[in-house]
Amino acid sequence: MDEDDFTVRVAVRIRPQIPREIIDMCHVCTFVTPEEPQVTLGNDKSFTYDYVFDTYCPQDEVYEKCVASLVDSSLEGYNATVLAYGQTGSGKTYTMGSGFDVDLDREQIGIIPRSIHHLFDSIHNRIQNARENGLVAPEFKITAQFMELYNEEVIDLFNPGYSKEKVYKIHEDPCGGIQVKGITFKNVVSAEEALQFLRLGALSRTTASTQMNTQSSRSHAIFTLHIKQQRIVPSADSNINEFETFTAKFHFVDLAGSERLKRTGATGERAKEGININCGLLALGNVISALGDKSKKALHIPYRDSKLTRLLQDSLGGNSRTVMIACVSPSDRDFMETLNTLKYANRAR
Ligand code: ADP
Ligand code: MG
Repeated sequence: MDEDDFTVRVAVRIRPQIPREIIDMCHVCTFVTPEEPQVTLGNDKSFTYDYVFDTYCPQDEVYEKCVASLVDSSLEGYNATVLAYGQTGSGKTYTMGSGFDVDLDREQIGIIPRSIHHLFDSIHNRIQNARENGLVAPEFKITAQFMELYNEEVIDLFNPGYSKEKVYKIHEDPCGGIQVKGITFKNVVSAEEALQFLRLGALSRTTASTQMNTQSSRSHAIFTLHIKQQRIVPSADSNINEFETFTAKFHFVDLAGSERLKRTGATGERAKEGININCGLLALGNVISALGDKSKKALHIPYRDSKLTRLLQDSLGGNSRTVMIACVSPSDRDFMETLNTLKYANRAR
């Protein structure tokens, strides 16, 4: 892998107009330059990214172009993070596949279920290959976690009732690994089982947020796969079996809506929520832009400025691979939010 693969990649995805926008006769105000990863908003606001996916780009293309290689490298021990950014309604949950209606048409399946299938297929192939070649098969242990960050607090989506009274602490081990103390780990032995847990967590996300009288659009949802692999070190002497262990973490993040407060008319308690959420998105923007700035490489990366960046610390930067997918609406009524998202994504590059 060359060094460039470790920098943050930024994609912009423009969703199709939804029926409401068509009924209201909204105009499309996003234009993609043919054969180039460039998008122009309105007449003259042009931005270039690593990838741009226009309205009818299918889910499998988004997956193959920007996520599949991260799953492959997670099997070599590299941490990875995929983030979906954008205003509420721009397609974050659709893109990530982090909704609980995961039983969509094959083509409509999002990034998380695709990654889960890809991961378990690769594991299966590696084991088969070793066996066919008369080698000791590698052993894998996969565990999943599903958390929500709401108002700078961690909620365990695999144990949502319990976590109401509990404050989870984010802890850094001496090797720089980040752990959240007390969060549920689910062992997963198959893609089906992992998908079942994904569904379960997504469902408790919606119920928990209804009970708290909030919307999931105000929280970040983080689904994490921990991949542990033990394999034999290739050696000339076939009598000696030496094992090596690889571990990797793969975070899938469906971020809180990026819309500005004034648009939602939030005040009081709601406004406080908004400020905290913005603090996560703000810190994330600062971290990603510091990582991308080669001249600043040696300087301090402000991970500690929010729970979100703290939690993702060991999987953003360093030897990790990160992709941010900025989701936008094509319609002119969302022009200002789209401009904000395009600017945020541009800064991250
Ligand atoms: P967000 O999570 O950002 O609030 P959603 O993922 O819920 O947004 O998307 C809003 C609506 O748009 C949903 O009805 C979703 O199915 C639809 N949608 C989003 N992106 C696409 C896409 N690329 N193709 C088709 N429909 C989409
Ligand atoms: Mg959503």
